[in-house]
Amino acid sequence: MEKITAPRGTKDVLPEEVRAWQILEEKLRNLAHRFGFREIRFPTFEDAALFDRGVGETTDVVQKEMYDFYDKGDRHIALRPEGTASVVRSFIENSLHAKGLPLKVYYIAPNFRYEKPQAGRLREHHQFGVECFGSADASADAEVISLGATLLRELGITDTELHLNSCGCKECRKGYHAALKEYFSTKKEELCETCNSRLDRNPMRILDCKSDICKGIAKDAPKITDFLCDSCKAHFDKLRSYLDAIGITYTLDPMLVRGLDYYTNTVFEFVSGSLGAQSTVLGGGRYNGLVESLGGPEMPGLGFGCGIERLLLTLEALGKTPDGKLVPEVFVAHAEAQAESVAHKLVYDLRALGVWAERDTTGRSLKAQMKYAGKIGAKYSVVLGGNEISEGKINLKNMENGEISECELSADAIKANI
Ligand SMILES: [Zn+2]
Ligand SMILES: [Zn+2]
Repeated sequence: MEKITAPRGTKDVLPEEVRAWQILEEKLRNLAHRFGFREIRFPTFEDAALFDRGVGETTDVVQKEMYDFYDKGDRHIALRPEGTASVVRSFIENSLHAKGLPLKVYYIAPNFRYEKPQAGRLREHHQFGVECFGSADASADAEVISLGATLLRELGITDTELHLNSCGCKECRKGYHAALKEYFSTKKEELCETCNSRLDRNPMRILDCKSDICKGIAKDAPKITDFLCDSCKAHFDKLRSYLDAIGITYTLDPMLVRGLDYYTNTVFEFVSGSLGAQSTVLGGGRYNGLVESLGGPEMPGLGFGCGIERLLLTLEALGKTPDGKLVPEVFVAHAEAQAESVAHKLVYDLRALGVWAERDTTGRSLKAQMKYAGKIGAKYSVVLGGNEISEGKINLKNMENGEISECELSADAIKANI
């Protein structure tokens, strides 16, 4: 029979790898809780219109990378390309603003993007994200950024640099868009096809086009920070003073606009060199118009996202992969066929007491059973034979140092001795 392989851009997390994921996820959950964020879970697919409106129909994410299709009921569906729009949809649909503001949530969930697979950027990848609704004040920005900084520090990713920018509000962007349009119009011939289509509709998107030619042109484009209105400038200054007060250092990066349309004011990225070229390990920003644009109340919001696969690759490059191999505590071998039913009952009783116990279920010889116990890394082993059963005593062997201790043949006694 011909083999079926996993779709391009997807990856299995194998049993020997999954422990690192579990430990990392546990750390992320604990940290989020410490900062007052509670978990939210939402569906993997949504109405495609959510992302057209929520992420922006002129973004790369929606124009080129979205997994969308018509379902059997002819509904236009998309696999979620990013988490924020889904959280906002749920926030509005469930009137979460009524639960007390600010409302702070986090999620660990898969995202889907049809792009060229590369290290840490799969077509199905996983993201840890946080979102905070209901505060327009710069202290909320500082809180979210400090959560990101704490996360990276506690994981031991210490070579990161925080890049910070303000991309302004609707008002200050009017002047900026006009200036960008004027600048890019003079290079119209050189820009890629997509950027040409963006020139009139959304010239800011040209700043994060992945084409090298467009990138080169964008380098000398006007900077948003020269166009900020008074209130956006004040917000940005206040955020910087909050960050200064807790010793979070940053580099101002006036070309940082992030790849999604919904950002207003603060945008930030933590960049690390651990994976070779400088790359973003965590990034986000403020999105004050997003809730309203998706049919909700006027509601400021902000958040960040961070790819789990990239985090794990970065940790691996630093030699800090979360480690904690799970191994059975005791392997119960049986020397003869009559002992098999005793082993069966003993393993069942040990498991009921909360002990990870294993035994052979394939009919192996005693020698092969012990070899298997070593292979799976069991900490202790017991061999049951006629003598052990008639005397009610067993030898408990520490598989690591070979030490043997005698104990009663009962689940309670074994539990007490391991
Ligand atoms: Zn403004
Ligand atoms: Zn382009």
